[in-house]
Amino acid sequence: MSRLDHTHDPALISWVESANRHCDFPIQNLPLGAFSAEGQARRIGVAIGDFILDLTAIGDLLDEDWREDLSLPVLNAWLARGPADHTALRHRLSELLSDQRYRDDVEAALIGQSEATTYLPCIVGDYTDFYVGIYHATNVGRQFRPDQPLLPNYKYVPIGYHGRASSVRVSGEPVIRPAGQRKPPDAEVPEYGPSRRLDYELELGLWIGRGNRLGEPIPIGEATDHIAGYCLLNDWSARDLQAWEYQPLGPFLAKNFLTSVSPWVVTADALIPFRVSAMKRPKGDPEPLPYLRDDDPAPGLGLTIEALISTEQMRAGGLPPHRLSHGDAAAAMYWSAAQIVAHHSSNGCNLQPGDLIGTGTLSVDNDDGLGSLLEISRGGKQPITLLSGETRSFLEDGDELILTARAKAEGAVPIGFGDCRGVVVGVS
Ligand code: CA
Repeated sequence: MSRLDHTHDPALISWVESANRHCDFPIQNLPLGAFSAEGQARRIGVAIGDFILDLTAIGDLLDEDWREDLSLPVLNAWLARGPADHTALRHRLSELLSDQRYRDDVEAALIGQSEATTYLPCIVGDYTDFYVGIYHATNVGRQFRPDQPLLPNYKYVPIGYHGRASSVRVSGEPVIRPAGQRKPPDAEVPEYGPSRRLDYELELGLWIGRGNRLGEPIPIGEATDHIAGYCLLNDWSARDLQAWEYQPLGPFLAKNFLTSVSPWVVTADALIPFRVSAMKRPKGDPEPLPYLRDDDPAPGLGLTIEALISTEQMRAGGLPPHRLSHGDAAAAMYWSAAQIVAHHSSNGCNLQPGDLIGTGTLSVDNDDGLGSLLEISRGGKQPITLLSGETRSFLEDGDELILTARAKAEGAVPIGFGDCRGVVVGVS
């Protein structure tokens, strides 16, 4: 596994001045993504301060062996290379962006983020969503089964379901209100119409780097080497559709109308200073089965994750977004990222470069850190009041939902993920 090195040094600064003390993209981060500048083709870049460094434009300064994969419009081929190349590119980018000797050659390849369009970083072959947020699982379970919120398999099996890859989109994609079958508890038969209980889910996404062959599970000790990086993920959810359709096969049309992710792949290397110990399993909980036993002393991600809402009225009135929740990702995750990957492949299922895996909603064990409106409004029974005086149980047309993540640790420069946003659009 990769280790702390000079690229994480808090004293390291960039000649890109906006990078220094940048809340998301200081030189210690260096996340990769796909972007285009006006009139140009889509390509791979790295976020640095308020800019994107165009990697195709500095191909001559990179290892010849890397150029072909880095000149593609998506990151799949690059992510497939695995940790050694990923670390080597990070070292080179850190050098190019800190050493004044390279400034003249590199500066011309910087594009302002405000002038660029960002895209999904990979072609997502498969998207899977897990359910590792134990407090979310408990809160939701309690609404359906007050006596037994967590089902007996939860503490043995990292629960997940296969989502839909075609509707995974990058931050900024409009959230077209889904329609579907909904059946209020007092109605005799369902009806078809626009969802009345549209919700978000605050999640992290894992981008798979190197894959595994069909029939060859990834051992838990090697699982982190298959995770190229992380993003924010919003699993938009239509709760009324979900409540009616979810039995017996789980989520379907309540979820697959859109999944939004933040544009940047925050690399596993960039997050090394922010690794923390896992959630302590409550006394009496079973030990993970051997194939899920993770000996990594710091498998958790020390990230503060937030969800904010801004209504149309709030934006018109110049009011700041309202923070719906903030919490610590590691304190929400019953299963680690490595356990997710090991479990997913444990039956021989093959993961492929650029596959996207959601953690599931990351709610913590207090009311300030609930990762969905379903939990915050107690199933719609306790609406929240916003600064504008408006109330919300679920999302209304015109609402913008914003997810953020920030990593902080003693002795490290904090880094961020970049936002994951979406505005709800009504259907006429
Ligand atoms: Ca989810």
